Amino acid sequence: MRIFAASLATETNSFSPIPTSRESYEQTMYFRPGEHPDRGTLCTGPLWVARRRAKQEGFELIEGSCFWAEPSGPTLQASYESMRDEILDQLRAALPVDGVLLGLHGAMVAHGYDDCEGDLIARVREIAGAKAIIGVEMDPHCHLTEKRVRGADITVLFKEYPHTDFAERAEELVTLVVKAIRRDIKPVTSLYDCSMIDVYPTSREPGRGFVEKMKRLEGRDSVLSVSLGHGFTQGDVPEQGTRVLVVTDDAKARGDALARELGAEIREKRGTWYPEYLSYDDAITAAYAEPKGPVVVADPSDNAGGGAASDNTNIIRRLIERGMSDAVVGPVWDPVAVQFCHAVGVGATLALRFGGKTSPASGLPIDAEVTVIGLMKGGMQSFGSAKVKFGDAAGIRIGGVEISLIAHRTQALGTEIFDAVNIELSTKRYVGVKSTNHFYAAYAPIAAKVLYCDGEGPSPLDARKYPFTKARRTIWPHAELPEGRMVV
Ligand SMILES: [Zn+2]
Repeated sequence: MRIFAASLATETNSFSPIPTSRESYEQTMYFRPGEHPDRGTLCTGPLWVARRRAKQEGFELIEGSCFWAEPSGPTLQASYESMRDEILDQLRAALPVDGVLLGLHGAMVAHGYDDCEGDLIARVREIAGAKAIIGVEMDPHCHLTEKRVRGADITVLFKEYPHTDFAERAEELVTLVVKAIRRDIKPVTSLYDCSMIDVYPTSREPGRGFVEKMKRLEGRDSVLSVSLGHGFTQGDVPEQGTRVLVVTDDAKARGDALARELGAEIREKRGTWYPEYLSYDDAITAAYAEPKGPVVVADPSDNAGGGAASDNTNIIRRLIERGMSDAVVGPVWDPVAVQFCHAVGVGATLALRFGGKTSPASGLPIDAEVTVIGLMKGGMQSFGSAKVKFGDAAGIRIGGVEISLIAHRTQALGTEIFDAVNIELSTKRYVGVKSTNHFYAAYAPIAAKVLYCDGEGPSPLDARKYPFTKARRTIWPHAELPEGRMVV
């Protein structure tokens, strides 16, 4: 048994001011065949898991390239094609294969390609042949297009948000692909379009219960795998939206019925999946009204993980204007400011301009006398078992407000973003993190309370605020909830 594995992944925010080229991938994560470390990353789970399973179960794994870029704007056409063709050439060289494992994100858009994953999977099929089993793992913030779902034999999405389960889902995918190659199962997919889009953290109800329900349904009554495709609001593509995907062992009618049933629950609970979020000024007031800190306040509107620049200054400016103390905010992406802080060293005070640079949605830069309180070279933060780069960093203090500046754009995942630059979180009242929900796993345990606010950055949660030209405005919340429909 011969299985080929590769990875090509990013999450494209169609409205991000940050261009995405092949270099953006190479600077964030690029492993040539055999170079992948012995540690999984979010989108390379299938290759990493298959490496161990190949040894245990006696199949041969042929490794292809793995690419990941931090979410930003559409990938340049030539860059997408060069990475795609690199993987396809490796697949051709690996023939004959019985199976192909792809670690994708699922919300990648390139100039000229609204559905990169659908395009890649179709080309993989052409090369690998009709009998090969194609298994795909994706992030739930994907666009589950008809083309890609029909193109693959088995699609499995992470269930958890924060995505702490990428390795478990990769294990399941490898298991199903190997069984399908042995003809022990005949995977058949059902895909239901909920005609809506929302944000679905699974660290709270009703998302928590929905994950448990999906898991309970698997492994019985011919149900092999159940996934919820949350959709990705910042991706301006025709098939954007929330979809339920069920893979059965040759039980299409059962899969269809289950996908419809789960879709009905998603629709019924629309608007209740994400917690209420406050204006950022109200969030500051609410945080300081708590008897004890730290109150962790997330700002999803400037989440680098969703393609925002992470250099919006609104909340920092307001904390300073209101004279708040024991406050921290981070991470703020500003490589130039980080460089200046490294030049002067810890303990130095300098007149620094930082933040507010990449677009009008970043707000204005802040000019202040700042003290450098900590410096870090080549910083990494933890996210589950994965390590994610934040690069050089600097901790600065302005009165009672401390800020973590970073040189490599990323969202707040682990607390290392602050710890590494000598910012102590446990003594703070207000801990502001630029993240939608991935912060939760590391920050909830240290928080007296978790709040969510709209920092008025470039990636608001409210889908109605985006100037879509391709995404459907006929679905909820743009319109009254239309009927759902089976897509596959
Ligand atoms: Zn995601």
